[in-house]
Amino acid sequence: MNVVIIGGGPGGYTAALQAANHGLSVTLVERGGIGGTCLNVGCIPTKSLLETASSWSKAVYHGWLKESTMPDSHWQEAQKQKQAVVKQLTTGVKTLLKGAGVRTVTGTARFVSENEVIVEDEGVKHSITFDRVIIATGSRVSLPQIDGADQPGVYTSDSILAIEQIPRRLVIVGGGVIGLEFASLFQQLATHVDIVEFTDEILPRFDVKTVTVLKRLLLMQGISFHTRSTVQRIERSSTTRDLKVIVRGSNDALFSLDADAVLLAVGRSPNTDSLHLEKIGVQTDRERILVNQHCQSSAVNVYAIGDCSNPVMLAHAAMSDAHAAVDHIVGHAGFRKSRFLIPQCIYSQPELASVGMTEEEAKQAGVLYEVSEVRMTANGKALVAETDGVCRILSEQGTGMILGVHMVGPHVTELIQEATLALELEATVRELVQTIHAHPTVSEVIHEAALVTIGHPVHVP
Ligand code: FAD
Repeated sequence: MNVVIIGGGPGGYTAALQAANHGLSVTLVERGGIGGTCLNVGCIPTKSLLETASSWSKAVYHGWLKESTMPDSHWQEAQKQKQAVVKQLTTGVKTLLKGAGVRTVTGTARFVSENEVIVEDEGVKHSITFDRVIIATGSRVSLPQIDGADQPGVYTSDSILAIEQIPRRLVIVGGGVIGLEFASLFQQLATHVDIVEFTDEILPRFDVKTVTVLKRLLLMQGISFHTRSTVQRIERSSTTRDLKVIVRGSNDALFSLDADAVLLAVGRSPNTDSLHLEKIGVQTDRERILVNQHCQSSAVNVYAIGDCSNPVMLAHAAMSDAHAAVDHIVGHAGFRKSRFLIPQCIYSQPELASVGMTEEEAKQAGVLYEVSEVRMTANGKALVAETDGVCRILSEQGTGMILGVHMVGPHVTELIQEATLALELEATVRELVQTIHAHPTVSEVIHEAALVTIGHPVHVP
């Protein structure tokens, strides 16, 4: 069977490798860089810069550095290091694809019929036919309609990654996951950060009490939040070259924020507009391709995975979709698309990690639940990292089945895997209590929260 995969991000390359492993004939079409958003301008480059920023801010905190501002030469080194990591990973993926016998084609694909795509590269077109196609075209930055948003100094998440100088004052439009990640990155490099968020609160879909803890800690670091506020326009002073961001605040009054740089981080849109989906008749909802649990669209030979179809726009969701699609194509029952058990991580400082039901979702679903909450200050290893935070476990009343785990604190983006496995295995809080957690580790906070649920805490009153 011949499979064409459009898009070489984490969804597309995982699907290509899996399909080739199953002995299918695979062609992967990519118009930009193999690795997609994730490896080139998303997950990996941001984490490289965050690592640099975190080391720098720790050195400043301990008084080992006199200046809290990073010199330009250090920042340029950090940029080079980031590019080296990106290159190493993208080269690694290319080598894997080659080794697996995947044919990679450079160019932009679009459908001409239900069995054929045209791939165009620098004016040269050629046709590829397929038995099955997996659309993995990802997403692009959504740009808000703001006057003055197209001038120098105004960035998207793609362009700010290559910023040459660390801004002294940064205004971030959007208090979502990406906005907060960049807020922490630059705050740790002594940038004053203002976040303007249109909704009532930052991170609206996350567990509210967990977000409150994160926000309190970010406020203490000096990040300013302007919620229920909308950016009206961005102006540039003709004398100082500074940017002025004009905002309508929660009380409807206008105010302005001065900035050297503005980051637009209001979300991402599925990349489906230029695919000519009308030629294959797949159903969509506002650019998102609608799929079933096998990632199969309304056209039986067309699958869609990752950001172009999954409302949870995360790399591991795209990879999990890739397994579901390929398993269905080769007739394996195994992998199903999961919407519920996708861990969500925010690499702010401190980090936030979450899996399963939030308290608000449990209330809405009418589930009878208990919540236990333990502060990170009760955990020795967290204190060593000088970070406060919280661990909240939601469990079903009566059965003790774990419904959701939400954490803020050091290394919680690693710890969330324990919670995800517990949810996948339908574990109870008693089973968490029976599981011996190594000491000293931040993971003990999960054990302590489980002990609180059964009424036998050790390290909290
Ligand atoms: P993509 O990675 O977007 O790949 C799609 C590919 O398709 C692209 O390479 C594109 O060039 C190609 N393409 C599109 N149209 C065509 C066409 N017509 N023909 C040929 N090729 C085409 N997620 C996490 O899980 N963890 C993180 O820490 C994280 N951090 C992020 C930080 C930032 C700043 C951003 C922007 C995103 C981050 N994400 C993170 C999200 C993550 O990058 C995406 O969810 C993930 O890349 C989606 O994978 P994908 O395969 O669906 O699409």
